[in-house]
Amino acid sequence: MSTPYDAIVIGSGQAGPSVAARLAASGLRTALVEREHLGGTCVNDGCMPTKTLVASARAAHIARRAADFGVTIGGPVGVDMKAVKARKDAIVGQSVANLTRWLSGIEGLDLHWGHARFVSSHAIEIGGQVLEAPKIFINVGGRPVLPDWPGIADAPVLTNTTLLELDRLPEHLLVIGGSYIGLEFAQIFRRFGARVTVLEVADRLIAREDPEVSRAVQSILEAEGIRFHLAVRKARVRAQGPRVAIEFEDAAGAQALDGSDLFAAVGRRPNSDDLGLQHTRIATDARGFIQVDDCLRTNVPGIWALGDVNGRGAFTHTSYNDHEIVLANLLDDDPRRVGDRISAYALFTDPPLARLGMNQAEARTSGRPVLVGRLPMSRVGRARERGETQGFMQVLVDAETERILGATLLCIEADEIVHSLLDVMAAGASYKVIRRCVHIHPTVSELIPTLLADLRPLAATA
Ligand SMILES: Cc1cc2nc3c(=O)[nH]c(=O)nc-3n(C[C@H](O)[C@H](O)[C@H](O)COP(=O)(O)OP(=O)(O)OC[C@H]3O[C@@H](n4cnc5c(N)ncnc54)[C@H](O)[C@@H]3O)c2cc1C
Repeated sequence: MSTPYDAIVIGSGQAGPSVAARLAASGLRTALVEREHLGGTCVNDGCMPTKTLVASARAAHIARRAADFGVTIGGPVGVDMKAVKARKDAIVGQSVANLTRWLSGIEGLDLHWGHARFVSSHAIEIGGQVLEAPKIFINVGGRPVLPDWPGIADAPVLTNTTLLELDRLPEHLLVIGGSYIGLEFAQIFRRFGARVTVLEVADRLIAREDPEVSRAVQSILEAEGIRFHLAVRKARVRAQGPRVAIEFEDAAGAQALDGSDLFAAVGRRPNSDDLGLQHTRIATDARGFIQVDDCLRTNVPGIWALGDVNGRGAFTHTSYNDHEIVLANLLDDDPRRVGDRISAYALFTDPPLARLGMNQAEARTSGRPVLVGRLPMSRVGRARERGETQGFMQVLVDAETERILGATLLCIEADEIVHSLLDVMAAGASYKVIRRCVHIHPTVSELIPTLLADLRPLAATA
């Protein structure tokens, strides 16, 4: 016996709940299936908890710098890790409670708890119960992978999920992976007071960015006392009671580190491997991402894949945008496409790195005539007033079309001010629109028109 629905949504990440709510509101009997926690990665062990920790870490950092601002604290700055975690848990708990209340009150929407697996193209099984529907939406996200270093399977390795549950300060945190997740946690725990060492197999951090960005981020983090080993080779991990030892080679030769805790942040893989896809014809690529077209349809009619599992984005905003694209095409006769999306994301270190569109390397290979505007933050009044002049702002413009091609902002408020550039890019307008705009003084945004006032040809080599 199976239970018939008009639509089934698998996974309550950043796309699933909104798809399910809208389908139910439009009269379709809808099932939303979740195996663990409402809100998925972003709310429970991704964006939201990490950003609450970023806020606690920044409070500690600014408190330690209090004297720079003429403020006396009258003793050493301490961090109460139990209180930090309690604050994080309360903020996450509030979001999950809001989501639960919202989803429970939607007429026509049934919430099913359990791990869903396809038993045929239009039927899934959850704990012995079979549900079937002509429309199925897959929003199952991804999970962390561990490096394949010898010894790692026998060592106590933390992932983003378990590191967020710590309510004690690691004495020496070893971070494997010098990319977005690894660097955010590295700075967070350094600011809480831990010794932090980052190991990266590439010869620079965040290797998808331009080399000067990698260097700038590294030097900002080194100035806070984080140590880095790049181009790590031949690493071996050894558990030593509760501690961990790593031996490896880098450019300086053989190295050995001893850490109280080991955290791996070397990438994520899609949750498509235990979804019963073998009982369907749904196609995945070699890495397990479910293949979709520009409207997020899989190759099986009536089945869509949204969020991290489709490999078309790896962010909360891309997953949420996936839900908008699917619903626009399905219900609103609005032909929105993934291809219309401008790449935008941030690394939430302090100062944050915000990125839009092309970087310099991509602009060079695009074959276009490119202009670049660049401003060090030491020239930005607001940054000097705040005593936070690290980093720079950089914008790339197509010399012929006058359109903005990309931006790299490594500075205070970068994650917020970048949106003025994104909106002008999305409008397909000339950079002169923003160049002639009068921004509020004294802000960081105020310098974006200035940045665009002095554009020069991009050098042919980095
Ligand atoms: C530490 C960290 C920090 C991050 N910070 C940011 C950030 O600052 N900004 C940003 O944009 N992105 C960030 N991300 C990425 C972001 O969290 C994800 O891109 C986002 O959550 C989108 O995921 P999703 O909608 O694809 O699915 P997810 O949020 O991963 O949700 C998938 C859901 O499906 C459920 N599920 C899986 N399989 C099944 C099954 N078979 N049956 C039933 N349920 C199932 C899971 O339990 C989960 O609840 C971060 C990620 C991490 C790990």
